[in-house]
Amino acid sequence: MNTPFTFHIGDMRSGRAEPRTISGEVSVDWHVELSRVQSEPPLFFEFRLEAVAGGIAVTGTIEARVLHRCYRCLIEWEEPVLREVRQLITTVADEEEEADYRLDGDVFDFESVVRDELLLDLPIAPRCGPDCEGLVDAAGSDLNTSLSEDERGENSPFSVLKDLLDTGD
Ligand SMILES: [Zn+2]
Repeated sequence: MNTPFTFHIGDMRSGRAEPRTISGEVSVDWHVELSRVQSEPPLFFEFRLEAVAGGIAVTGTIEARVLHRCYRCLIEWEEPVLREVRQLITTVADEEEEADYRLDGDVFDFESVVRDELLLDLPIAPRCGPDCEGLVDAAGSDLNTSLSEDERGENSPFSVLKDLLDTGD
């Protein structure tokens, strides 16, 4: 299957292969908790591929814009993200050693590389700033104040009702 992330790189198994640069611009719909990779503008990646012993070295960058939502006050903001990539695609077929990325056949799908590198460092609980007070806390303390006045009971409609009932006996 051909996607903007797939490239024919089988020839790079040969140690004599010339280094090559690949790149792509892709709209994705990826998110982690409260951070979302924007589909517009598309993310951009550019990798230099170099044949090395046992595999293909991948170095380069990924650029994207990410929309974060503050976990406390829910405000949203967008920021550019730049990731430096340094990975190895293993080409040795019979190697038992666990490899993150392996080339089977001639076509490699770089989607997992781009996705892993981009999403792994996104915050689990983004915060708009160190001074964020948060909506939840502000609303919660108002509610607490009015509840505790009611609990004191002096002006509560229920205490009036209770008096009426007591008189009735
Ligand atoms: Zn906030």
